[in-house]
Amino acid sequence: MSREQSGREVAALCLHLHARGWVANHDGNVSVRLAAADGAERFLASPTAVSKGDVRADMLVEVAAEGDAFKVVAGERRVFSEFSLHLAAYRARPDVRWVCHAHPPYATAWAVAGRSFWESPFMGEPVVSLGAEIPVVEGAGLSDALSRCDAVLLMNHGVITVGPDAEMARLRMELVEHLAKIAALAEPLGGPRPLPGDQIEKLLAARAKAGLGPSSGGGSYAPAGPKPDVASLVADALRRY
Ligand SMILES: [Zn+2]
Repeated sequence: MSREQSGREVAALCLHLHARGWVANHDGNVSVRLAAADGAERFLASPTAVSKGDVRADMLVEVAAEGDAFKVVAGERRVFSEFSLHLAAYRARPDVRWVCHAHPPYATAWAVAGRSFWESPFMGEPVVSLGAEIPVVEGAGLSDALSRCDAVLLMNHGVITVGPDAEMARLRMELVEHLAKIAALAEPLGGPRPLPGDQIEKLLAARAKAGLGPSSGGGSYAPAGPKPDVASLVADALRRY
């Protein structure tokens, strides 16, 4: 994908975060991994101190990173300070090309309460799409969590999702917020009823078979190939249940 196309997709994802109400003020940020240049990793990132509803492709910054240090090498604006979180995600996951961070209200409500809504998965399809774990993490725990998971809750903060392309990073953010909302609505009704453990095992096997999730957990998802049909994977996994 060309740098120009990546830039258009970064801007489009920023507008989407704003339109869905997943950010306020200058919240949220998006980046994409570019090809390395001059021995440094390169990324295209949303600018700091701009509403995600106002981001245009010509406002983006190109960031070079070596070790823990990063700096803007192209673009008029500054990069967001949370870029260190993005860097941790890229370092944890060589298969990841996109990182998306936002403060969607329901998922962030769980994050500020310091609780995961997904400690006991309660619906089948999301186990195939996101796995059986969406942990709440702090500080150095982010790298470890992202080596296992495609979405994490940041304690007292918000959500990070990763993906091989912009669509997967966006859909994962959408699914995290949707599940967080369902879990919150189920709480006063007695809480979600957890899926049985053996059912979760079958769903995780279907996830691995589809090549979804971290490469260490069943091979990285290939964006060029056909997208897995999660509904039929779930049906296959549960057929003999
Ligand atoms: Zn944030």
